[in-house]
Parts: sequence; C-alpha cells; structure tokens
Amino acid sequence: MREQARNTLRTIYGYDDFRPGQAEVIEAVLAGRDCLVLMPTGGGKSLCYQVPALIRPGTAVVVSPLIALMQDQVAALRQLGVAASFLNSTVPWHEQVDITRQLAEGRLDLLYLAPERLLQEETLQILDRADVPLFAIDEAHCVSQWGHDFRQDYLGLDVLADRFPEVPRMALTATADARTRAEIVNRLRLDRPARFVSGFDRPNIRYSVRIKSNANDQLLAFMEEHRGQPGIVYCLSRRKTEATAELLRADGHDAVPYHAGMSGRDRSDHQARFLREDGVVVVATIAFGMGIDKPDVRFVAHVDLPKSIEAYYQETGRAGRDGEHADAWMIYGLQDVVRVRQLVDQGEASEQQKRIERSKLDALLGWCEVTACRRAALLGYFGDHPPEACGNCDICLDPPKTYDGTVAAQKLMSCIVRTGQYFGAGHVIDVLRGKDTAKVQQHRHDQLSTFGIGAEVGEVHWRSLLRQLIAHRFVLADAARFGALRLTQAARPLLRGETTLTLREDTVANRSRRRSPAKSRDDGFEITTQDEALWEALRECRLRLADDASVPPYVVFHDATLKEFVRLRPQSRDAMVAVHGVGQAKLDRYADAFLEVIAAHAATPA
Ligand code: ADP
Ligand code: ZN
Repeated sequence: MREQARNTLRTIYGYDDFRPGQAEVIEAVLAGRDCLVLMPTGGGKSLCYQVPALIRPGTAVVVSPLIALMQDQVAALRQLGVAASFLNSTVPWHEQVDITRQLAEGRLDLLYLAPERLLQEETLQILDRADVPLFAIDEAHCVSQWGHDFRQDYLGLDVLADRFPEVPRMALTATADARTRAEIVNRLRLDRPARFVSGFDRPNIRYSVRIKSNANDQLLAFMEEHRGQPGIVYCLSRRKTEATAELLRADGHDAVPYHAGMSGRDRSDHQARFLREDGVVVVATIAFGMGIDKPDVRFVAHVDLPKSIEAYYQETGRAGRDGEHADAWMIYGLQDVVRVRQLVDQGEASEQQKRIERSKLDALLGWCEVTACRRAALLGYFGDHPPEACGNCDICLDPPKTYDGTVAAQKLMSCIVRTGQYFGAGHVIDVLRGKDTAKVQQHRHDQLSTFGIGAEVGEVHWRSLLRQLIAHRFVLADAARFGALRLTQAARPLLRGETTLTLREDTVANRSRRRSPAKSRDDGFEITTQDEALWEALRECRLRLADDASVPPYVVFHDATLKEFVRLRPQSRDAMVAVHGVGQAKLDRYADAFLEVIAAHAATPA
C-alpha cells in the first residue's frame, strides 16, 4: 500500500517523499479507519486525503467551509490532471447537473462540498447511490463551540456516522488544543479514530523581533530584502494600513491596503491581486488572512503588536506554507507596550474577559523579551517540547548580550516611587538623568535623592530598561492616568535586592547587520546574481501560463520547483520530470514552455 501511495505522490504531484506524518495517515485511511489529523498550517494536510482518494475507486468527499479555498484547491488539482469538482451556491445549475452525473458514473476523484450543501437530503441521497470511499472534514475545529471559528452547519456532520457507517471519515485541522480535539471526536462521532498530532513547529519560518527605533526605516530595510515577493504586513489600525501601504508604494513595492473599513469590492480586488499576482504585498488589519491558502507568502511583518501568542502564531503561520524559507518579523517598542495594554483596559469586554486578555498579552510581551531561542519559547507555550536552540530565529542567529540589570532597575523604580508614582516615562527619565527641565523645577524634583543618579547612561538605555520592566510586569503604565508609571507587587523583592534581574541589551539593527544571517539561509539554494536573469524569465513564463489558465502562479509551479530549474537546468522532458513538483500532467502541459526558456538562457553566456 505504501508503494502505491508513493507512486501516486511521484507521478501526480512530482514529490519524492512524504512529509512527516503523511504516510501514516494515508495508511490508516486506506485501512478503513476514522482519523483525527492535527498538523500545522502548511504541514500538508490536503495530501492526506487526496492520495487515498486517488488510490481508491469512487469519489472522495471533502467538506470545506470556505468557498474561495474550495475553488483554489480544485483549480490546483485539475492542474495535476485530477478529476476534481466542487458544489456550492456559486455553481450554476447546469454545471451542478453535470457534476452530479459525473459523480453517479464514478468519473470524479474528489468532490468538495460546503457543509450546508452536504447536509441537504437531496445531496445525501445522491451520495447514497455513489461510490464514496472517504469523507474528509477539513477545518474540523469549526465544529467546536469554544473555538474561534464555530460554524453551526458543522454540528450536523455527525449524520455521516449513521448514513455511511462503513465509510472512513477523517477530521483535519491546524488549530486544536486538547479540549477542542476531544470535542471534534465527540461531535463528529468518529469511531475510535487513529489520532495524528504533529507538533506546532514551522521550521522554515524564521522568527525575529526587533526593537522599534524608527519604524518606517526599519520596515523599508526589511522589505528591501523581500523586494518583489508576496507578503503581509499587519497593522493595528485602518489608518495605519493606508499610510503604510502608501509608504511602501513610494518605495517601489506593489502594496495594497486591506481593512474592514474599505468597500467589499476593494477588499476582494486587493485580495484577488494578492492571490493571483506574483509579488503583491497586503498591508492589513487582522481582518485579512482567514482562509488565505497562498503557499508562497514569503514574509509576515508585524509593525504593531498582535493580541496574543496564539494570534501571532496564526498570523505568522500564513507565511511559507510551501516549506520554503519565510520570515516572521516584528518590531515593537515601549510605546506599543503601553498602547496595547491601554486598548485592553479601555475595551468593552467584561472584567473577566479583560483578565484573560491581559494575561495573554503578558505572555506575548514576555516572549518578545526572551533571551534564549524564540522558537523554543513559542513551541513551549503550546506544550511542545522543542530542542533548546533552533538555529533559525533572531536569538539563535544573533544572540543578544545580556547584563545584570538589578541596580539599574532599582534606580529607575526608586525614582518612580520618589516622584509619587504620578508621572510618565519622559519625566521619570529626566529626573533620573538629572535634567533641568521646567517640569523638574515646577515639582522641585531636583531636590530628590534620585535626581541625577542615572546620569551616566543615555535616555535610550533607560527606555529599553523601562520597556523590559513593563514587559516583565514589574512596572505598570496606568492607562487611566495618562501612562503614569507605578510599581507592582512583583517589584518589591527586586527593590529590596532579594532577587536579581537579567536584561537584554537592545541592538538596534542596521541593514548590514541583518543582511548577514539572511544570506546564510539554510534552505540550500539561493538565486545568485548570475542566475537572476533565468529566474526572472522563469517567473515571467509562469505568470503568463498562469494567466492563460486563470490560476495563481503557484498553481503552475511552486517557487521551489522554479529554483530547481535554475539549479539543475533540465534540458529534456526526462530531466524535467525528475524535478521536485513536476508530475505527469504538468510535464505534458508546461514542459515545452519552460524548456524553451532554459535553453534560451543556456545559449547566452552569463
Ligand atoms: P495544509 O492544508 O496542511 O496547510 P497543504 O496541504 O496546503 O497544507 O500543503 C502545503 C503545501 O505543501 C502545498 O503547496 C503542498 O503542495 C505541499 N506539500 C504537501 N505535501 C508535500 C510533500 N510530501 N512534498 C512536497 N510538498 C508537499
Ligand atoms: Zn532559535
């Protein structure tokens, strides 16, 4: 059975090996078992039901909640020469009749259905008469009322257990804690399912968090490394998405805004451009991203803090689904810490809800300030047990210097106390540094014992220290009192010298410093300047073919495949079919066009 599955993988998809977990799931399904499959985004869930669907006779049914996703998946499958269709409210009547006939005649490999469509008695009756080897329920967490994507229609899916007791059912999801997992099994009434839980790690994503100094410059420098690549920049406010998109456009990037305040038409235009074109950057509020299945998103940048580690993981998870190198990059600073806390405090949520939000935010801030491997901390938060160092995060690549910040923290906190826990960061730091300002005069703060005790170091240093004290919750910036600083309970032992505090020295990144680790990417092969002409020509060819077929470029070939073309320069169809991502159908369809491009570039000496 394994051989058969592997064969399908090679001839249809053009892939050599299964990803971790895939072969085991496929085997269980082919053995007729119900399955619960939890894999991180981009882990390759679709293959787990597609391969069995191709091996077994009849039509496998895939339940999927999002119409856009269905269309994309079916388009991609058709490119592979697979007989796939979908039924939903957007399909015209005569096509529906056609699809139903194909289903009855067993001419479809896969049929995608929205849950509400599947549950119609008429559909169920058609399926009764058809040969269905498998039901795959995608985004299965939608059945959970506690989760964030609950869909009423999913609750009805347990009918499949009664109607089709012989047909194996698989539930697939990327987001499920233990509680949600149990709920999926119960509500779908899976029968002693085989459980496959892959870890949360996304090894190809490089996490980095930078301290904000000049946000626009920092973003532009980061974007320079990703010029021409598709990506997402997340901002907190609508106004800022507009301004940031403008900033990027002025710097030559193809950037568009996306937020809930735009007209539905503009939103779907911008989303479509992002999906169909090759290097569009979307600057968005969190309204953007749900159901975005684009595999070649090369970066996700946060210029404002997300709400929690969960949100951060989900948002950054949209990068690099194709397994190629991708960057998750964030900048944040003292202002952001104060501001997001304020947003929570002033929000309309219940007190209990606010407490939860605060603690999630604290976890995120703590994570921003870690001094050991960022991935390890991230995965640890989700209950994984990762190795101590990943080698692919900012901290592993460029460890921050740490210092004993106990005495400095004591000075700063004493100064907060002496000024009555009444002032914000600016004034407290002025007093520390012994500056003779009008406000100092007015309050006679030059008389304080803490006046000038921090004169030996600069303001930037004090702000960095304060940010870390706030992030670690020794100090609060009181939103109700215009950011007045005050100490928490946790500060006492530190003030009394009973505990010590290790802090990190901020490195404000400059271009050359960040460039070096980016060059030593571990994904094996980078496009050199010599190869750039071929690379661009291949991309152009891909875009043209994609336009002709009305599919996104990545559906023709992934970046990884184009890179292999550059590296191996295949000169024949035989050489080309050996390349990762080239299956039989795509060979027939596209080999000639790409061979021509490669040949043309072999002729011109570099
Ligand atoms: P998920 O649904 O889990 O987020 P997908 O099924 O969309 O992930 O797969 C993510 C990407 O990985 C797809 O572009 C898919 O073609 C690719 N992929 C899946 N399995 C393999 C494999 N065994 N080898 C190479 N690429 C794969
Ligand atoms: Zn690391």
